[in-house]
Amino acid sequence: MQAEFWRDFPILQEQIQGEPLVYLDNAATSQKPQMVLDALNQYYRTSNANVHRGVHSLAERATIAYEIARDKVADFIGANRKEIIFTKGATAGLNIVATWAERLLKPGDEVLISIMEHHANLIPWQQVCQRTGAKLVYVYLKDGQLDLADLKTKLNANTKFVSIAHVSNVLGCVNPVKEIADLAHQVGAYLVLDAAQSVGHIALNVADLACDFMVFSGHKMYAPTGIGVLYGRKSLLEQLPPVEFGGEMIASVSEQDASWAELPYKFEAGTPPIAEAIGLGAAIDYLNQIGLSKVTAHEANLIAYLLPKLQQIDGLTLYGPKDRQNRLGVFSFNLEGLHPHDVATALDYQGIAVRAGHHCAQPLMTYLGTNATVRASLACYNTKADCDRLISGIQATKEFFNGLI
Ligand code: PMP
Repeated sequence: MQAEFWRDFPILQEQIQGEPLVYLDNAATSQKPQMVLDALNQYYRTSNANVHRGVHSLAERATIAYEIARDKVADFIGANRKEIIFTKGATAGLNIVATWAERLLKPGDEVLISIMEHHANLIPWQQVCQRTGAKLVYVYLKDGQLDLADLKTKLNANTKFVSIAHVSNVLGCVNPVKEIADLAHQVGAYLVLDAAQSVGHIALNVADLACDFMVFSGHKMYAPTGIGVLYGRKSLLEQLPPVEFGGEMIASVSEQDASWAELPYKFEAGTPPIAEAIGLGAAIDYLNQIGLSKVTAHEANLIAYLLPKLQQIDGLTLYGPKDRQNRLGVFSFNLEGLHPHDVATALDYQGIAVRAGHHCAQPLMTYLGTNATVRASLACYNTKADCDRLISGIQATKEFFNGLI
């Protein structure tokens, strides 16, 4: 039976170029269900005020709603509420972790990342390594996914941080995080997990994953833009200094000095993204209402359906693992002789939204020997009919350009 989650997402009723929209750019950002739109509307209509400051009733309502959102996030990833820092998104979270790392790293230390990392989990480490004299070391691929043997040879006593994507935003492979975390811990390194592409698709439990830090963005899991989460193990966060300073994050301030509020507030300077956090809470309610395992199963069905169909297309090069094990719904490909931007434009003419470009992973593109790819990516509201539209859209694109050549 086809899941009908798409009914919950008003934007999916849109027509694009006279065709019903097929939205397959979910790795860039997901659409928002009515429940999230309603939560934002309701907040602004009934509770809008600044948090943690006022004693008036609206301020109290806003504060309660904001802190309930934090509880929902904590439950969602199996963390303590003190370990949940609201940020702007995954990028902001990774920059904060890299800032902390800068205090620790010395010349000769190593930071281990993979060649598949998004620039958000690469450039902050490049910068920190350049400033500290630490070395940025890369793990490469085997069979379109992370080469664990390569990772094992590169981990050593100098490795201080291993920072890795849970799921690649290009290859779609799911990395064996728990195994990597255990290996990292054996050499005394911290494991930083970029969960931007796994959140909302598969369960994330920080204890099961054994990560020390984890980041994700709300907007890729049906929540608004402008809100993300940095999880940090409480024992670590307690030792770490604030990165931003200002209102909200202090215990007390004198003319020449200040002391910090308790966790997690010492890491949330200034007015936070209140409505957005509440929207994230509503997105978690939405996923809990469906049951995340049902979403995972639905997407797994779509992956099993779409993967062989893509692989059968003549002249299509598909990147990432060849089989559906260890794969989530991110499909990067190229069509022989065609530029990815032309393919994406031709698909848009048929009402199909996909992404084309380097997907903020230029070192990976270089490693794969290409400048760019087309990327189709799934979310809970996609259907087999969407997959069929993509396949026939690719065929029509090939025919159109072959007619021109
Ligand atoms: N990491 C990965 C794997 C991503 O796919 C993305 C977004 N494309 C990010 C980090 C950055 O997320 P954001 O732009 O929401 O901060």
